[in-house]
Amino acid sequence: MQRRQFLTAATSAATALLSAGCEPAPRALQGGFAGVDLERGHRLRDLLAGGQLPAPAVLRRAQVVVAGGGVAGLAAARALRLAGVDDFVLLEQEDEAGGNSRGGQVAGIACPLGAHYLPLPGDDAREVQDLLEELGLRRRVAGRWQYEERHLCHSPQERLFFEGEWHEGLLPVQGVGAATLAQYRHFAAQVAALGKAARFTMPALKSFDVKRPLAPIHQALDAMLFDDWLTLQGLDDPHLRWYLGYCCRDDYGAGTARVSAWAGIHYFASRHGFHAPGEAAPEEREAVLTWPEGNGWLTRRLAEPLRAGGQLRTGCSVLRITEGRHGVEVDALHHATGNVERWQARRCVVALPVFMAARVLPSPPAFLQEAARRLRWSPWLVANIHIDAPLQDRPGAAPAWDNVLYQDANPGGLGYVNAGHQRLEPGQLLAGPTVLSYYQALGDQPQGREQLATQPWTHWANAALATLGVPHPDLARRATGVEIARYGHAMAIPVPGQLAFLSKIGLQPIPSKRKQLSNGERMPWLPTPATARLAFAHADWSGYSVFEEAFTRGHAAGGVAAG
Ligand SMILES: Cc1cc2nc3c(=O)[nH]c(=O)nc-3n(C[C@H](O)[C@H](O)[C@H](O)COP(=O)(O)OP(=O)(O)OC[C@H]3O[C@@H](n4cnc5c(N)ncnc54)[C@H](O)[C@@H]3O)c2cc1C
Repeated sequence: MQRRQFLTAATSAATALLSAGCEPAPRALQGGFAGVDLERGHRLRDLLAGGQLPAPAVLRRAQVVVAGGGVAGLAAARALRLAGVDDFVLLEQEDEAGGNSRGGQVAGIACPLGAHYLPLPGDDAREVQDLLEELGLRRRVAGRWQYEERHLCHSPQERLFFEGEWHEGLLPVQGVGAATLAQYRHFAAQVAALGKAARFTMPALKSFDVKRPLAPIHQALDAMLFDDWLTLQGLDDPHLRWYLGYCCRDDYGAGTARVSAWAGIHYFASRHGFHAPGEAAPEEREAVLTWPEGNGWLTRRLAEPLRAGGQLRTGCSVLRITEGRHGVEVDALHHATGNVERWQARRCVVALPVFMAARVLPSPPAFLQEAARRLRWSPWLVANIHIDAPLQDRPGAAPAWDNVLYQDANPGGLGYVNAGHQRLEPGQLLAGPTVLSYYQALGDQPQGREQLATQPWTHWANAALATLGVPHPDLARRATGVEIARYGHAMAIPVPGQLAFLSKIGLQPIPSKRKQLSNGERMPWLPTPATARLAFAHADWSGYSVFEEAFTRGHAAGGVAAG
């Protein structure tokens, strides 16, 4: 309850519905902010800006310090354990590890606070495949890989509220004209051709080469805006543009006018392509793993052995990381005691966002300073809405896991997922109570971060209820509580030119004696930036944020720190 300022408010959304002549009486709404402790982050920012950091009260030692406990930090810790290094500590600012992939609860119902799904990993994401095997999510049956049915997203997976009705899938198809369908086919052909001409891998770092970091096609696409590339191709259909804008905001936090053409193509070419209606798609095309608490299911399992082994220290903000000739010193503020602890270690994995890493290193290497200067981050919010019974619904396709509005009144609104969708009890799929997790990416809003920091929770709750009230007219009456998770720097936006920059600094030859990492892997180069004693691991270093990027970088950095 620490960070949930439970407040009570009558929702203006309900009032708006009433004044529009719809049912029903407004009800008192419970809610507040949840998830990331913005005040803790701001306190840290002020401390660092003041320059005078508190003197350490305690001195401790470990072989390795992992700074930051998101997916990358947890992956690094796992890699250390796999390499037989148990003498390490993971320092995490929040009270729970997981970063942007944590789960929460509203009224006792599990829901995601951030990341909510993982597409089935392809062979380029071998490290993620290994993790899924370890967690029992993937196994070989009669020579074929199978995924645990319980955790594959149940059908129906997604639907679109378009022209007053729900439609299956997210690509607007019903009622669109021949010209739109022709553009769908044209875009599909372009994605297929580019996918043949260059490697688009997930994680993207697997397509880099130490001798020639970026293929010429990647370079050309990275240099221009996706919007401009689409215009050059004559792809101007509003339905196609809406869909591509939705996809970019969903993965990159910003639309086609901000992300590079590389990012726009990579979204499709690195997975299963873009399939125009009527075109054959691979069976596993859109398969994703998901859980009521979203990817918090994964991060809790990654954190469990660390908690058991005493290596996880939450509520600890890293204040300073000093790299010396013989080791590293890491100062961390323990929020519960107010004490600063100094950790001395041989190496440190810096699994912090780039802007934070640049603040806590007294002399940041040039590549870190440059990355902090160049990267742009999208703010996000998740509104978790508890409803006490099933909602009225507009006609058309049945309720799905992911429910998206073609016309969302909120800028960057991405629709909602139903946290109750994976329930196994017969008849439970549509039954309330449940939690609807509404997502909004604010990367296209010039004042998005300031608004997130200053607007009260009711502002965001009312906006979510109002827009979702269009397909579900009784939502304001059914909603009993809303919790808002805010992320000021949720994810790096893959803007033009960023891939060219990051691909160069991310590829450093590993000194020959360390080519064989102690976890048994061989690597000719390190796929994540490093100095002599620091290995950097965070999705930011990929220039966009998905589980596969964060995990692969964390795994590599952990392997190096162990070596
Ligand atoms: C709303 C939202 C939805 C998303 N949905 C998906 C999805 O469905 N699927 C997907 O694959 N990806 C999704 N993502 C992307 C997701 O962020 C990545 O998958 C992944 O969680 C990034 O992990 P990371 O370790 O690189 O970064 P982070 O999650 O940023 O981890 C960094 C960690 O460092 C900690 N930290 C920061 N400063 C300090 C300090 N000074 N001292 C100590 N600790 C510190 C933070 O608290 C955090 O735990 C989503 C992101 C958001 C914000």
